[in-house]
Amino acid sequence: MAAAISSALAGATRSVACPSCVGRASDAVQRSEVRGAAYACSSRSFGAVRSVAGESSNAGSKPLKTFNGLRAGGVFKKEYDALTEAVRAEGTVEEEFTLTIYAGRNGKPLEGRKLRVAVVGGGPAGGCAAETLAQGGIETFMFERKMDNAKPCGGAIPLCMIGEFNLPLDIIDRKVTKMKMISPSNVSVDVGKTLNENEYIGMVRREVLDSYLRDRAKSYSANVINGLFMKMDIPKDENSPYVLYYNDYSSGSKVGVPRTLEVDAVIGADGANSRVAKDIDAGEYDYAIAFQERIRIPAEKMEYYENLAEMYVGDDVSPDFYGWVFPKCDHVAVGTGTVVNKPAIKKYQTATRNRAKDKIAGGEIIRVEAHPIPEHPRPRRVSSRVALVGDAAGYVTKCSGEGIYFAAKSGRMCAEAIVEGSMNGTRMVDESDLRKYLEKWDKTYWPTYKVLDILQKVFYRSNPAREAFVEMCADDYVQKMTFDSYLYKTVVPGNPLDDIKLAVNTIGSLIRASALRRESQKEIQFVPSTRPWKLDVGFKNLSLQEALDLV
Ligand SMILES: Cc1cc2nc3c(=O)[nH]c(=O)nc-3n(C[C@H](O)[C@H](O)[C@H](O)COP(=O)(O)OP(=O)(O)OC[C@H]3O[C@@H](n4cnc5c(N)ncnc54)[C@H](O)[C@@H]3O)c2cc1C
Repeated sequence: MAAAISSALAGATRSVACPSCVGRASDAVQRSEVRGAAYACSSRSFGAVRSVAGESSNAGSKPLKTFNGLRAGGVFKKEYDALTEAVRAEGTVEEEFTLTIYAGRNGKPLEGRKLRVAVVGGGPAGGCAAETLAQGGIETFMFERKMDNAKPCGGAIPLCMIGEFNLPLDIIDRKVTKMKMISPSNVSVDVGKTLNENEYIGMVRREVLDSYLRDRAKSYSANVINGLFMKMDIPKDENSPYVLYYNDYSSGSKVGVPRTLEVDAVIGADGANSRVAKDIDAGEYDYAIAFQERIRIPAEKMEYYENLAEMYVGDDVSPDFYGWVFPKCDHVAVGTGTVVNKPAIKKYQTATRNRAKDKIAGGEIIRVEAHPIPEHPRPRRVSSRVALVGDAAGYVTKCSGEGIYFAAKSGRMCAEAIVEGSMNGTRMVDESDLRKYLEKWDKTYWPTYKVLDILQKVFYRSNPAREAFVEMCADDYVQKMTFDSYLYKTVVPGNPLDDIKLAVNTIGSLIRASALRRESQKEIQFVPSTRPWKLDVGFKNLSLQEALDLV
């Protein structure tokens, strides 16, 4: 009997389609493993029967559980019938068995070549996407216009990113274990008391992190091209290629040599000013402008920031965000951002610097940088065989302005969907494959974005509300919940009693904030600066608009 089932399964296992994913019957596919990365059916619920053909044999008898996975038709009819008959005849099998099942796919098989995917942008989103694609057997091309790009960024990453993305510790400049939240009236609250000794926020320099991720993608055989993506031609049918136009800098040419490349799918990981997004008419998003100065401070002052970061809130540093001082290897990054009053960003930056002035006195500004931060996802993130990830898609959280982890994660998730949909690069993909990434993304992270959106609306709206926010941060329970959620990117289940206490405290703080606001309310008028000021982005002097166009 075991042999009968085993041989029926042997046939079934070679080519079995998942009913929930299947496209055309003739598209049933074989198991495919490339460099250790095998991607099974995305419909994980389709696992009622477990076994690998040829492995079923001698363990104790167990009743066969409901077997409802295989389709009773198409090219599998023979295997299905044989299996059904064998099961009916015996009613039991000698071992619980595993049936490895792969989805049948819509895309047609690719003859004599692998699926070709271009990743535009070599930041965390692009690097992680390219690595996953290459590991999954896809012919991968990653474009990065500037290999030593130092993306303007605070560089704070959650602890879980180091483990999940297997980052070496030597690319972490600092391990921050203390955070000072500083209120509009300069009340300072120490956050981080609840961290255990192995927990910290990682501080990285983006030029270091990004180039590490790109090199790692290359080590898995991704083709990394030093080139500026210009535009692409969208194919007219489901199997024709996208034609990408780019300026190739790999020969050292400053202007670049115009070239084209044909690919089957494109991942837009080219940041907030994404050209890929424009090409697929993805729509716009609101954005904040963030401004940052890297300041080298005397060694004795640097000691204070050894493992400490500061966050300043107040109308002076930003009407809707926060100012920060983050420690880096040999300097601190001082910055702020705003959506509602972008022309006043320089004024907010001066205020942030002033608030920290005693601690950074004697410092030398070594770099000034500015960049947009998306406020919410774009209206369209997938179109046909093109998907947007990271900042190009709009995945920065409100309130904290965090985007590195979400960029890396979305790049990886999108690439996984392509690897899975193409059966390790052996078949063409279509929009439904790429949409799987969106579904998974939204399901996993929508609550995080929503909660932080609400927090920002409630607590960053006025100075009294900010005072209340800082006051709340003194609570150990609040610290534990927020730190755990940040460090591990999970919604931490709370303690019901503490939750009630927190709710009461929150309401109390907000009532006090409202009362204070009513008393102290005076309209703050922001007068846009009329003086065109210059921004040094490291290599030339530009007006803010020119700089923004550039970045
Ligand atoms: C001042 C500031 C501070 C921030 N601080 C933090 C922080 O502390 N922690 C945090 O988590 N997030 C922070 N963020 C947000 C974070 O920087 C972004 O969310 C993150 O960089 C997004 O990664 P990405 O890979 O999607 O895009 P990017 O990092 O923008 O990478 C895009 C890449 O694509 C390349 N590129 C762009 N166009 C083209 C083209 N046409 N052809 C070829 N290559 C191209 C660029 O050179 C770049 O390397 C901050 C942002 C700013 C502006």
